[in-house]
Amino acid sequence: MEDCIFCRIRKGEIPSEILYKDDDFMIIKDINPQAKIHLLAIPTKHVPYIDMLDDAGASLLGKIMHKVSKMQKQLGLTNGYRLIINQGEDGRQAVKHIHIHILGGERLSEF
Ligand code: AMP
Ligand code: ZN
Repeated sequence: MEDCIFCRIRKGEIPSEILYKDDDFMIIKDINPQAKIHLLAIPTKHVPYIDMLDDAGASLLGKIMHKVSKMQKQLGLTNGYRLIINQGEDGRQAVKHIHIHILGGERLSEF
């Protein structure tokens, strides 16, 4: 999508700290961190909302979460972390391209 921030980062049109990239997804640093470590895992394919995913896209989300768990040490997540997806209006999803927030690097608040 031409005017999607995350698609533009993927294409190198907007600068970003990319920590990991493969054909399926990338992990970048969030520009406005809400924890000591705040990363975003972003699937390559532009799909705005979870309910729009096909089976392959849904499986990919699970694979990404598993991959994050395998990469936790290299991402600096030594003592646990939190994965969050903001979905839709009530979920306060600002960027309409599915992404998983990865928060950690400190003891997070309960909610
Ligand atoms: P959400 O509310 O779940 O859509 O979150 C979107 C996230 O994208 C927010 O945490 C923003 O800080 C983050 N964000 C927006 N623009 C950029 C950017 N250019 N580079 C990195 N993160 C960004
Ligand atoms: Zn996009």
